[in-house]
Amino acid sequence: MFLKLLLFVVIGILIYRALGGNVPIFDSEKNSEETSAGDTLVECATCGTYVTVKESIVVKGKHYCSKECLPD
Ligand SMILES: [Zn+2]
Repeated sequence: MFLKLLLFVVIGILIYRALGGNVPIFDSEKNSEETSAGDTLVECATCGTYVTVKESIVVKGKHYCSKECLPD
């Protein structure tokens, strides 16, 4: 009986999620993804070197690895 109930809860959550609902347990996972977003690699628009978003310099929506690669 308990397993059936658990199955209904899981299916209920999945349907709720599919409809765009927010479940606190899943949201905490989403938040941890956001905090690690700074480690995402981006390609330098000038030399093609991959740098993390945190280390990159963003000018007009483009990422650059260093000041030397910035457009004049
Ligand atoms: Zn570069």
